[in-house]
Amino acid sequence: MDKIIQRIVGKIAGTPSLKRRVSPVSKGLVPAFPTTSNVLDSMSTQVVSLSDTDDADSEIRAAQVRDIIAAAGGMPANSTKTNSVICDARGIRNPENLTLLQSKLQEPISKLSRNGRVVVITNNPATFVGRDAVASAASAAGLHGFVKSLAKEFAPKGVTANTIAISEGADACQGLAGPLNFFLSNRSSFITGQSLKLTNNTLFRINDRPEEMFSLRGKRVVLTGASRGIGAYTAKLFKAEGADLLLVDHPSMEKALSEFAGKLMCPSLVLDVADANTPSALKVGILNSFGDHRVDVVIHNAGITRDKSYKNMTPDLFKSVIDVNLSSIIRMDNMLFSDCLRPGSRMVYLSSISGIAGTFGQTNYSCSKAGVMGYVSSLGATVGDHGVGVNAVAPGFIETEMTGKIPLVIRNVGRHMNALLQGGYPVDVAEALLFLSTPAAVGLNGNTLRVCGNHLLGA
Ligand code: NAP
Repeated sequence: MDKIIQRIVGKIAGTPSLKRRVSPVSKGLVPAFPTTSNVLDSMSTQVVSLSDTDDADSEIRAAQVRDIIAAAGGMPANSTKTNSVICDARGIRNPENLTLLQSKLQEPISKLSRNGRVVVITNNPATFVGRDAVASAASAAGLHGFVKSLAKEFAPKGVTANTIAISEGADACQGLAGPLNFFLSNRSSFITGQSLKLTNNTLFRINDRPEEMFSLRGKRVVLTGASRGIGAYTAKLFKAEGADLLLVDHPSMEKALSEFAGKLMCPSLVLDVADANTPSALKVGILNSFGDHRVDVVIHNAGITRDKSYKNMTPDLFKSVIDVNLSSIIRMDNMLFSDCLRPGSRMVYLSSISGIAGTFGQTNYSCSKAGVMGYVSSLGATVGDHGVGVNAVAPGFIETEMTGKIPLVIRNVGRHMNALLQGGYPVDVAEALLFLSTPAAVGLNGNTLRVCGNHLLGA
């Protein structure tokens, strides 16, 4: 019934079909190690450099971008086909030159194929402080607004448009390749209208071997909420990409967890993340599973909803959601940062579009998930200096058991509340989690990446 309604609403609304990566999970390959040279899969790309007339470095920057694309298997666009347009607009410091976005970009973007990609590289507006820098700040902010509207206009063709904003002092040569390849590839089909800030992270440099960029080969990963929904798909994808996993889930999921872990041939640990003893139990579990306490990646995925309108909200419902979705994470992290993580480790947290836009009946959930974003933003600024990468993913409407509990009509409205007019799948979130867990995300810290098809609400 749900599927039929979904199809009818999709047909009427003109829902585009999205091209996703043929993932190693669906191909049944375990393990499969992706190489950088297959990330872009012969995608044809046009690089457009926009700058104020006196910017002498723009050609050098455009050449660096072309090198990144060629190394990832991309091809220059030809007259008949353009799969993606990269606009390097770092040279625009004068708002008058924002008109170049219309005069130089309109033609290539209009020619984009279905499921095409637009990536705009700009400066982080927050970089520009002081009276002399206001024109540069205005230009960079203007570029963000441009991309957000572009994302909405081209969504019916399945085209995505995203921004990479480079902060002062960031080593763009080091950090740009990962986010650029991710946004251009079919790993990010349900991500549009978003911006990633590239910050300085010179302590941990990208591996000399580019084929390792999106790989988790030999990396120890702790994943909570692992036996179903987003967690289960993430476990399968991470395993296929070479990770050594420790799967964690709630005691009520013991049987499902043990069967699932058996299939993936990896250790598992049953615990309630909200329990006061969990940090010490987790530490023992890590030692028993890996032989010592070292952990390379942690995915804080376990989460619950306990929805009620605010006037009917009970203390228990409010407290349990804050406890599982936020407080437990901070308690576990205190142990992990002191005993398990090291320079180069990466942490990824599950937030939600509800924490950005707010949702009726979810005061508790929105509060917890906005808290996750605040935590990540603050933590990223601190631990980034020690070489640990900390970022969050905020899914929109994703087809899982959690959203399956939403009443039918509201569910169908929720699904279509984004520019791509459909719900996302666990694979969309898992691909974003994979990207943020690998060396591809070396320059990213304190970001919240929305996987929401450009949800109509929220900043
Ligand atoms: P899900 O299908 O409900 O799976 C969540 C998993 O976490 C379950 O296995 C659950 O076990 C486990 N868990 C819950 N409380 C736990 C606890 N105290 N200790 C240990 N494990 C616990 O959820 P999902 O849809 O995959 O969502 C995964 C994450 O993404 C959550 O953080 C969620 O808030 C976030 N998210 C999801 C969506 C979406 O549309 N699906 C959107 C935005 C954000 P039990 O079955 O025992 O509870």
